[in-house]
Amino acid sequence: MPYDGSCHCGAVTFTVDADTPTQALSCNCSICRRKGLLLTFVPRSAVTIRGEEALREYLFNTHKISHRFCTTCGSETFAFAQTPDGGEGCAVNLRCVPAVDLAALEIQHYDGASR
Ligand SMILES: [Zn+2]
Repeated sequence: MPYDGSCHCGAVTFTVDADTPTQALSCNCSICRRKGLLLTFVPRSAVTIRGEEALREYLFNTHKISHRFCTTCGSETFAFAQTPDGGEGCAVNLRCVPAVDLAALEIQHYDGASR
């Protein structure tokens, strides 16, 4: 069943056409640790965005991941990147999805800092 998310101020809302995840990836890289991102990965085509004009892009390092955050409230709702098979992927920040019980998520730790 699709699930909805939003930035904090509500300027950006989105719907993900996938089942509500029970797992999330927590990464220790320089940006994930600072933003506290809890991520799930879906094809970009599965994400419908409203209010996209409120988003700004943040790029760093190799510029391969397009981090998107709300210019009003600063929430990073998701990031876009090419998947290993060459498709367009989206990493959804589950902290922006109210229907997800964060405490119940099975967390997979990823050592992004060492890559
Ligand atoms: Zn916002």
